[in-house]
Amino acid sequence: MISNTDIFMKGTVMEHFILEVNETDVRREREKSRELRKSRWWQNRLALGGCHYCGGSFSPEELTMDHLVPVSRGGKASRNNVVPACKECNSRKKYLLPIEWEEYLAKQDNQPMESSK
Ligand SMILES: [Zn+2]
Repeated sequence: MISNTDIFMKGTVMEHFILEVNETDVRREREKSRELRKSRWWQNRLALGGCHYCGGSFSPEELTMDHLVPVSRGGKASRNNVVPACKECNSRKKYLLPIEWEEYLAKQDNQPMESSK
């Protein structure tokens, strides 16, 4: 049995996450992301070969475009919202809860950096 209070609580949580992102905006930003992926600017980012999250070195084919603020949460397909991420970090980010992801990043920061070659 679901009480009125439960329904009210769920409604509040949903509103918090949706943040007035409509489908048209999402589609437009996804389209822009595709364009951005083809840009010379992005190709240069990939050529640098670093994952934004774990700091590892990868070949351009191993890197994917990640939105710092996901498009589905109102993030934009702009240069300051996209970063190169290795496939592992990308799928981690997708499947972890935001809090677990934060913990993962914190762990990455604490690791001693390998000396740059
Ligand atoms: Zn990574």
